[in-house]
Amino acid sequence: MNTQKLDLLGVGIGPFNLSIAALASTKSALSTLFLERKKEFAWHPGLLLNDAKMQTSYLKDLVTGIDPTNPYSFLNYLVEQHKLYPFIASGQSVISRLEFSHYLSWAAHSLANTRFDQNVQSIEFDGDLFSIETDNQCYQSKHLVVGTGMQPQVPAFCEPHISNSCFHASELALRKPNLSGKRVAIIGGGQTGADVFQHLFDNTFGEVKEINWISRRSNIEALDESCFTDQYFMPDYVDGFYQLAQQTKNSEVSRQKLTSDGITNDCLQGIYQRLYHDRFVLNKPSWWSIQPNRTLMSMAHSELGYKLHLEHGLTHDNTQINADVVILCTGYSRALPACLSELAKQIPLNPQGLPELCPDFSVKWPGASRNHIYMVNAGIHSHGIAEPQLSLATWRAAKILNHASGQNLYDIEPAEAVVDWGLNAIEQTEQRLAALGS
Ligand SMILES: Cc1cc2nc3c(=O)[nH]c(=O)nc-3n(C[C@H](O)[C@H](O)[C@H](O)COP(=O)(O)OP(=O)(O)OC[C@H]3O[C@@H](n4cnc5c(N)ncnc54)[C@H](O)[C@@H]3O)c2cc1C
Repeated sequence: MNTQKLDLLGVGIGPFNLSIAALASTKSALSTLFLERKKEFAWHPGLLLNDAKMQTSYLKDLVTGIDPTNPYSFLNYLVEQHKLYPFIASGQSVISRLEFSHYLSWAAHSLANTRFDQNVQSIEFDGDLFSIETDNQCYQSKHLVVGTGMQPQVPAFCEPHISNSCFHASELALRKPNLSGKRVAIIGGGQTGADVFQHLFDNTFGEVKEINWISRRSNIEALDESCFTDQYFMPDYVDGFYQLAQQTKNSEVSRQKLTSDGITNDCLQGIYQRLYHDRFVLNKPSWWSIQPNRTLMSMAHSELGYKLHLEHGLTHDNTQINADVVILCTGYSRALPACLSELAKQIPLNPQGLPELCPDFSVKWPGASRNHIYMVNAGIHSHGIAEPQLSLATWRAAKILNHASGQNLYDIEPAEAVVDWGLNAIEQTEQRLAALGS
């Protein structure tokens, strides 16, 4: 078996590593290869619901923010697919997730530096190079970039119930459940809960008998998508945020939750108008209920279905609902991927079991003077709320490529900012420290 040697090897091909692959593809400074365990590209396939929309602009694609002349832009995808003019005529400012997924798949399978059906099993370091083993290949690389995404999060007391009738929403479209005549409980009030509610309401999986939508949040809450909120998703803010004390960062990230975890206004309005029509125009008997301020505390199963025990966040009253099917829209969590377990013995981990990241997204570890391990979608508590989002993925990709190559391959200077955050950017802090030292 031939061992291919690379400068930078990527584990996982989601949009974030794909952005690095696309920007690297037009530069010869680094040899790169990105490995994906799936046989072909798929973007959250269990949630590719027909009418689900993107939360972000199509200009926040793999490359445009840094290099709009790169061939892997969304606009070039439209041109190559001969649909640019019909697209313009459609007047869409926000596109469907299905179309964005088609675009990502087109890029992933057109790039020469991607390889599928490569499940990375283990990564070891011999003091000089990383050795990467998949089920059927070995590779060596000077640097790594880990882009393995996040894992579906299921409350511990739900785990024993996971089955065809109780599952995480990330599996919905893959399981294709027949929900005809069923009482369904949707747990979780974020964008996924809203997408699932809307599609169940529209009978995408059969004519549902009853829907209970349960959310711990104090209302069905909107995405905060104002132009000033968008300033959090800009390089100057990320650079400044990085300098804050850890406790301050944590509280800022939780305060800014609705800037990425709220529900888009279009989606909310679409749902509300359906509800209005159903209740006040069609005068249908009650078959759905929206219950904010309720926390699912426990659940039990019998031949009559699931009993879900809820606690009210304001009154602390306990209530119970019954369901035949429970769909958990309970989010995602971060964990170190299994393929890093051997390497992790050499990496200092924080109390959450994750490595600390430098400003350039490289891991702080003893081998870092020569060999870098970059991580994407792993630094919300170091780099801020933009980390798990598409908005700055291409800027982060360029920053990683500049750092790994030791060259200024891409111009990553932040644009002049509209808001003065009063936060020192990294360069300013370095200048201040240098001045103090002189
Ligand atoms: C339903 C949904 C919709 C979203 N919509 C938006 C949006 O509109 N706008 C926005 O800004 N953000 C959105 N996000 C957030 C974010 O952009 C996405 O989650 C994005 O997919 C994150 O990309 P990623 O590359 O980190 O991970 P992923 O897309 O999860 O990709 C990781 C890949 O790594 C592979 N992998 C894992 N382990 C291995 C291994 N050992 N070997 C090989 N391959 C491996 C996996 O198979 C997977 O393909 C959305 C998230 C979800 C869940």
